[in-house]
Amino acid sequence: MSPLKLVAAGVTDVGRVRDGNEDDFLEQADRLGLVAVADGMGGHRAGEVASATALEALRAAVAAGQPLRKAIEGANDAVLEKSESDHELHGMGTTLTAGMLGTDGSLTVGHVGDSRAYLIRDGELSQITEDHSLVEEMVKGGELTPEQAEVHPQRSIITRALGIDPVVDVDLYPIQLRAGDRVLLCSDGLTTMVRPEEIATILGREHDPKRAAQLLVDAANAAGGEDNVTALILEAVEVPDEVAVAPVVDDGRDAAGRRGRPPKPRRRPGRTIFRIAIWALPILLVLGVAFAVVGWYARNTYFVGIDRSRVTVFQGIKGGLLIWDPTIERRTDLNPDDLTTAQREDVTGGKKFSSRGDADAYVRRLRHGIEQRTTPPSTTVPTLPATSAPPPS
Ligand code: MN
Repeated sequence: MSPLKLVAAGVTDVGRVRDGNEDDFLEQADRLGLVAVADGMGGHRAGEVASATALEALRAAVAAGQPLRKAIEGANDAVLEKSESDHELHGMGTTLTAGMLGTDGSLTVGHVGDSRAYLIRDGELSQITEDHSLVEEMVKGGELTPEQAEVHPQRSIITRALGIDPVVDVDLYPIQLRAGDRVLLCSDGLTTMVRPEEIATILGREHDPKRAAQLLVDAANAAGGEDNVTALILEAVEVPDEVAVAPVVDDGRDAAGRRGRPPKPRRRPGRTIFRIAIWALPILLVLGVAFAVVGWYARNTYFVGIDRSRVTVFQGIKGGLLIWDPTIERRTDLNPDDLTTAQREDVTGGKKFSSRGDADAYVRRLRHGIEQRTTPPSTTVPTLPATSAPPPS
């Protein structure tokens, strides 16, 4: 059997609800035969520190030749040490699900927490790892059905993580990989948003690891994106003997040494460019038209707002639109403090007009209103007593 190598790509995204992304992944399939996903937790930025610290410690340990279990235990030590050294990081922790290729072509999955590893073989998706979560334990204890666990309010509570205790119990799953097998590593931001059947459908449709990972992330976001979401896909690729011995030239590596696609078969560059052009043309055309329409709208809209405490006529959209920032058309000497409350609210919000003339007319009405209020009309001026009025002529 020809030797196997891993081709991998990951995508991580903040999702649609959270402020920061505490997920992280490691893609060292080429150099170390190692990939991993980590989902950090902790206040402020501690979750991000926890996942990044664990992944870096894992990478360094595997690079130094340590077996996977020992490397994950080392990652636990690194997160715990950092958490104890800085009170802002106290209590942080992270999940870790890693895959490491052995010299015999087997993959070892090491796992702590509720991120997951799935095997995709012959179109079938099967879960490799078991969640270390409260709801999983309740399912095992017969207190919940798997369906109830999916929607349980406490489904994000985990029972094992790195960085909490000096001793961590690491689950290891050996997988005998076959050429064409794919493994998905993902955070719970994917699995709480997208059902396994849909994950399988997406993976069946898209074979390129990077595009497939992106589609999974897109699906989680389309379903609400309630958590950070990470998907990493690795594929076991058979290495033909001539590629294994010959120095590899232009095999799709990017500057960071990551592979964008399997090394064989190589496409002629001309054909690649042609394919990209055909695929991209309609999209570029649509984008160009949309851009022009937005630009026209931004240039042909006016609003009356406030600049340097004066009522000002602007061209454009308040706050700007894409690359078009509003420009000042005309400054007036009107002070917003002299306006009525309702007018001041309109102007503060940037009252919109479809032409410069309409905006100017509005400013004239504001000016007229101010004059009416600050220069009392003659009818209300106290008149002189009739006795001192000049006698009619
Ligand atoms: Mn999560």
